[in-house]
Amino acid sequence: MTASLDPAAVIAEFIDAVAPYDPHPDAPPVALIGLRTALGDEMFTMSDHLIRAMCRALASYRDPQDRGECVECGGRHLDENLHCRDCGRLHGILGQVIADHARRVAASGDGSAPSEPV
Ligand SMILES: [Zn+2]
Repeated sequence: MTASLDPAAVIAEFIDAVAPYDPHPDAPPVALIGLRTALGDEMFTMSDHLIRAMCRALASYRDPQDRGECVECGGRHLDENLHCRDCGRLHGILGQVIADHARRVAASGDGSAPSEPV
């Protein structure tokens, strides 16, 4: 968790965190990033080391809301009960049981409970 939600402070914290490990601290910056917020404008110099650190951070990032993809619609909005907010499909073991049961009910044709045990 980041200590601050001020965008400029977050970027500055990231730069400070990776800067001590830059193998070429005197190399010229590869980019300048301008940031405009309600607090004003800031400019950050981006080193090659910083960009590589951002790539590594991105590769290891996993959003706390990421619960995988829906097998039905491919959506990525599964709630904490693994229920797809896009198409309504329920995932996990319970979701599989319900989906199997619904298939059997549909196959029986009359909407009544299936004769075989669930
Ligand atoms: Zn879905």
